[in-house]
Amino acid sequence: MSFETLGLNPSILKALTDAGYTAPTPVQEQAVPAAIAGKDLLVSSQTGSGKTAAFMLPSLHRLAEIEPEAAGRTPNQEKQAASARGERPRFKAAQPKMLVLTPTRELALQVTTNTDKYSVNLRRIKAVSILGGMPYPKQMQLLSRNPEIIVATPGRLIDHMESGKIDFSQLQILVLDEADRMLDMGFIDDIEKIVAATPANRQTMLFSATLDGVVGNMARRITKDPMVIQIMQAANKHENITQRVHFVDDLSHKNRLLDHLLRDESLDQAVVFTATKRDADTIADRLNIAGFSAAALHGDMHQGARNRTLDSMRRGSVKVLVATDVAARGIDVPTITHVFNYDLPKFPEDYVHRIGRTGRAGRNGHAISLVNHAEGMNVKRIERFTKQTIPVNVVEGFEPKRTAPPRSAARPGWKPGEGRGPKPGQRSFSKPGAPRDGAPREGGHFRSEGAPFRSAEGTTFRKEGGGFRRDSAPRSDAPRRPWGER
Ligand code: AMP
Repeated sequence: MSFETLGLNPSILKALTDAGYTAPTPVQEQAVPAAIAGKDLLVSSQTGSGKTAAFMLPSLHRLAEIEPEAAGRTPNQEKQAASARGERPRFKAAQPKMLVLTPTRELALQVTTNTDKYSVNLRRIKAVSILGGMPYPKQMQLLSRNPEIIVATPGRLIDHMESGKIDFSQLQILVLDEADRMLDMGFIDDIEKIVAATPANRQTMLFSATLDGVVGNMARRITKDPMVIQIMQAANKHENITQRVHFVDDLSHKNRLLDHLLRDESLDQAVVFTATKRDADTIADRLNIAGFSAAALHGDMHQGARNRTLDSMRRGSVKVLVATDVAARGIDVPTITHVFNYDLPKFPEDYVHRIGRTGRAGRNGHAISLVNHAEGMNVKRIERFTKQTIPVNVVEGFEPKRTAPPRSAARPGWKPGEGRGPKPGQRSFSKPGAPRDGAPREGGHFRSEGAPFRSAEGTTFRKEGGGFRRDSAPRSDAPRRPWGER
């Protein structure tokens, strides 16, 4: 199938050719014609599947069809007209035609950049990002142009809505991008408020990794007779990404192995994921000392610094990005060849998002998890979630002293208290969000080195005498708690 057959405006088709897109991705094939026809969409697809173009191309097509007169005057034009009439110019709220809500600033900027690329030949259509962390005068300046498209994180948008700077009464298209993640981050009330401020006859498109549970409920409430599109397989399974696990004995073994793997000749650029912001800084510093051009990316950094770091990554002057989950979402740098899990993510879904930073736009990638012996069961949970086994790999000269433990149960022979984790008798797992050693945390992450041993079913074992004793009732999975940044 070609983009021409999807029925897109010639100006958009030209922009796609110039961007080097030759054929639509599966999600685009299904979403574009339906959205051009004005249907609501519920789409379950991963980042990397081409979902941004799937909602933006039909939206641009529809916005381009609006007559210029119907598009109205910009607030600046209103001001000029008022002063020509001898009236005092009054502030007029921006009246966007399209709103895209995203969970993070990085994703919002990514969406805006792609929109600029697709709309380069549609001179009348402008897209702006309204984000937390952006100076207020700059935002007012962007809004004063009365952009057709606003891409925003929910928190900051609410501020402008409530102070009358944005009026959604003319909105025609609402997109919720990575809706599951926005709900995880606690944005549900903000989203409900924003949706309530938009016209009931709008077109709504919701994109999410999953359409079950809370997301599904919300999706049903805010859409009308939606077309459901589920693009799972290839993108979800990340078939173009080679995954592997390396077991490590301790932190020093992990660091030595990471440095070795970062010197792999096939590595162009890499993202190293850590559990905490402080670890991201510390590891980036250590890697720089070791001779890699590394930079940290996390939510404690100002937006300007985060943007500069991402630009350096795109330009290639940074080779290794050491990042936390929230900050790294939506990073779209096609030259990232490797993703390392220095710490395993707390939630298996995050593993899928993390490894999706490589293998972008049809390329191949490598996802390597450095795993402590006691974390075997967390690998198992990821495998259950992705329905794939991740092969265990050993590098010559970096063999772990212990062979890999069974991934689902305690096994005598392993001594609790090894490694840097809590000693037997201390609390074993950090509570999600709780600081470890005073370190700020983004979400919760497994920190189980040396911890009392838990089986995959959630049973805790403790060493007693010469053997192991079952310690507590099976643990239910830690509840997802909202975290993130506004
Ligand atoms: P997304 O899933 O929207 O994050 O897109 C992933 C990457 O694929 C981005 O770099 C897009 O620019 C790129 N992309 C999206 N659609 C296409 C297409 N039809 N052909 C080639 N690249 C694409």
